[in-house]
Formats: sequence, C-alpha cells, structure tokens
Amino acid sequence: MTISRRHFLRGSAQLTLSAPLLGAAAPLWAASPPAGIDYSLITKPFVGRKVSAKDIMQQDVGGLALFAGAGCNVVALAGKDGALLVDGGQAVNSALLLQALHGRLGTRRIHTLVNTHWHPDQTGLNEVAGKDHATIIAHEVTRLAVGRMLRSPLFDGTIGPLPESARPTLTTYDRGTFEFSGEEVQYRHLPGAHTGGDLYVYFPKRNVLVAGGPVTTDRWPVMDYLNGGFMHGFVRSYDLLAELVKPDTLVVPANGPVITGADVVKMKDLYWDLFKQFFVLFNKGLGPRDVAEFNAGKEFRGVVPIVAERPLIGHPVLKQLGDPSQFLEFAYRSTQLATLPF
Ligand SMILES: [Zn+2]
Repeated sequence: MTISRRHFLRGSAQLTLSAPLLGAAAPLWAASPPAGIDYSLITKPFVGRKVSAKDIMQQDVGGLALFAGAGCNVVALAGKDGALLVDGGQAVNSALLLQALHGRLGTRRIHTLVNTHWHPDQTGLNEVAGKDHATIIAHEVTRLAVGRMLRSPLFDGTIGPLPESARPTLTTYDRGTFEFSGEEVQYRHLPGAHTGGDLYVYFPKRNVLVAGGPVTTDRWPVMDYLNGGFMHGFVRSYDLLAELVKPDTLVVPANGPVITGADVVKMKDLYWDLFKQFFVLFNKGLGPRDVAEFNAGKEFRGVVPIVAERPLIGHPVLKQLGDPSQFLEFAYRSTQLATLPF
C-alpha cells in the first residue's frame, strides 16, 4: 500500500515476540500458530519500494509456503508442472520473490496464479505468469480492472493497465474449484469487501484459508471505496469467512501474521459493532473524519448528546493494528455512499 499512513508491521508470528508489544492488554488473537516470519522486521511501507533478498521471508503454513516482504503475503504450493501461487506481491520485487519461491519449491515456472484482487500489491507477478503461460484465476471484476488505468484512494497516481498477457485467463462471478497436485482448491467471491472483486482461496485438506484483501493483521484493512469496496460487503464477507472456518483453521491475511479461524470470528464481531454504530452517527450528522475522533473519545455536542457505543475505546486491537482513523473514515464514507441519497 502506498499512502502517507503508518504501515509499520507490528504483529509477530510468535506469541513470545508479540507479548512485549502488547503490554498488559490481552491480545485480540492468541498467536500465529506456525512460527516463522517475524513481521516486526518489515518496518516500512511497500509502495514501489524495492526490497532486498533478506527482506523476502518465508514460513510453512499447513504445508504451504508463505512468503512475506514483497508487498503482500504470497502463498505457494509445488506441483509437477510448476507452482501454484495465491497473489504475487509488487512487480518491482518479482525477481527476488521468484528466486526465493522457486528455490524453496524446486519449481521453474508458475503453473497457476490466483489474484485475490486487482491491487498492485497482489498482481505484481501477473506479467511473469503470463510469460509462463500460467492459468491466472480471478474474479471478473479483477480482469476488467487490470485492463484499465484506474485510480484508488489507497494508492498514489494511476494504476495499470497490465498488458494483455498479464490479465486473468479464468474468471468467476461467484466461486470455483480446481485440483492441484492431487488436492482440491476452492475459491469464492467476497462481495464488495476490500474491492469489488475479492476472492478467498481455501485448501480444505490442509484447513488453510488465504483470505485476501478484507483480512489484515498488521494494519487496518482499509477498503477501496471508489472501486467497489464498502462496509456492507465487508461485514458480509466476514460472515462468509466465519461460516467457512473452524476455530483452528490457519488464516493467511493479505498482510501480517497468520491467525486462526477463531480470530476471524472475533474480528467479524468487532466490525459488525462498528458498522451498526455508523448508522447512529449518520443520524447525528457526523462526517467520515468525525467518526475516528468520536471513536477515540471526542464528544460532539448538539441539541442532545450522542449516545452510541464506541467499541474501539480501550480495545486491544488498537495495539495490534495501530491508528484506525483511515479505516474508520473510509468505512464510514463507503457506508454513506452506499446508503444515503446524496
Ligand atoms: Zn488491496
């Protein structure tokens, strides 16, 4: 992600590492079960920042290889005709990521690439995948998006288009399954969540879910409200994820440490609480920027006081995800855009 916000990764793959960061507060989620990547070492925003080989970190997640440091979490599995990848990091880091990835998997080409959404943090390997004649799976919205020049409130300047050869070759409006290296892989649309074309990818045999853009654990999952992401779809997507997971499912977020299915359910409850609060604040006349201040404790006095829950005050998630201002502003703005007849 670009932007002038703090995207310092605060999470940790290990409870022992995260405990000092959290102080006395109970962590929102218990720990990342498979120790490996220390996300606290990833300390800078990724926007077009070229990283070095040591910045590409990896760990095992239920037998899948997880790579971090190239712009987003990238999940990979080896097959006899090449690698299956879910997402690809930023293009500027593609050579280093591929080196680490093929080195670990013993593969030489990308066989199948799934784009969980169209943002440049995710689609940076699409050109390589195109040259490898890989199958590129995505939501149809993602295929259309990478074929255009777009703007997003999450990134500076314009994005795309990707060349024809780098665009998805197999798209869905809803869901699909395929077999890779003898196991079933499922994907499904998360409607209107982080963008208009989010997919999750689920490996049932391994009980591993790659959740895509709506789930982040080192920052707030800011939604792209100009490109189909909005709070209604976001909370609905958390319902779908919560229905899918078991408490011990390993959940790989778009960025940040691996969490469990039980953690996703906790996040769902928090986001629903915020969503319901928004409608009270609409009626009191608060704007998108006021909402962050209200949640932080500022009183807004009109004819009558505002009586609404403030679910974030004192919540341990603040220590794990940092300042929620931009998330709240974009989430509230998206709710206004989708709800109020301006
Ligand atoms: Zn994104």
